[in-house]
Amino acid sequence: MREKVAVIVPCYNEEAVLKESYRRTRAVLDTLPYPGEIIYVNDGSRDATRSILDELAATDPRVKVLHFSRNFGHQPAVTAGIHHCDADLAVIIDADMQDPPELIPEILALREREQANVVYCVRSHREGESFFKLFTAKMFYRIFNAMSEVRFPLDTGDFRLIDRKVMDEFVRFNERGKYIRGLISWIGFKQVPFHYERKARIAGETKYPLRKMFSFASNAMLYFSKKPLRIATGLGFLSVLVGIILAVWFTLGKIYGFSNAEEGWTSIMTTIIFFGGVQLLTVGVLGQYIGILFDEVKARPEYIIDETRNFDRKVSLPQE
Ligand code: UDP
Ligand code: MG
Repeated sequence: MREKVAVIVPCYNEEAVLKESYRRTRAVLDTLPYPGEIIYVNDGSRDATRSILDELAATDPRVKVLHFSRNFGHQPAVTAGIHHCDADLAVIIDADMQDPPELIPEILALREREQANVVYCVRSHREGESFFKLFTAKMFYRIFNAMSEVRFPLDTGDFRLIDRKVMDEFVRFNERGKYIRGLISWIGFKQVPFHYERKARIAGETKYPLRKMFSFASNAMLYFSKKPLRIATGLGFLSVLVGIILAVWFTLGKIYGFSNAEEGWTSIMTTIIFFGGVQLLTVGVLGQYIGILFDEVKARPEYIIDETRNFDRKVSLPQE
């Protein structure tokens, strides 16, 4: 029997791209020697995304849809897609066609050739993105790697192929703040890179404004690394050291008369401000981790599903 492949697509206010995105993805699925389906996760869109997806699901039984009760975010949407996927292989892809679905056959071929469990797609070139986005993304992946205890492939998004083995491990992760590309790397097995050119969005706007990008990046760091805590401790040690040196210096100065302590207003202020800053910073770092603990302890569901389409219906898969 041929394996089944599912394409998982998170969508948030993607009315501008959905129809075209579906057309292109379906065209690719039609050419595959595998039976295929598309799992759309509507992450609480406020535009016509919902009705477009319902329409697609009504006409094509290979289109499965999960409607969230509100916007939960990109990572929870992909997570829900993986949780609800019963296929042997899944390709995670964005709705905006920045990652071309036309590459799926090549990715599948690479998996078969290499007998890999994961094919992660590495962007060798990105079109239509601001210098700022490219720069911050590049910096992020490098800082992230330096910080985290595990090594991760650079310049890799969620665009990747994963097999059943990886999905079965993924569903065992209970953490709320999932950084999916990191977790999949962390799972292990055989993972191979696939280089491609990331295109510009075909229409609509990015759903990742600066604020979301920042929280995404800082969450990834905090979930994958305890280094910020170690850096905070290091800063603490450093200030103690500086404190001791200053104390010795001033005491000796007083005894031997080479420092005039009364005139030290500037140095005192500088020291207070500097160490006040160090303290606030380290308390802030601690606070970040406590915040994560708080969220994880509450263990709220990662997403809430309002309605589904075509998940219960027996799908008759196209013949080879
Ligand atoms: N997305 C989502 N929920 C969100 C934000 C984004 O499901 O809260 C989806 C979005 O519809 C798209 C993918 O995640 O399919 C990536 O978003 P986008 O293309 O806007 O990000 P960018 O490529 O600009 O980083
Ligand atoms: Mg995009």
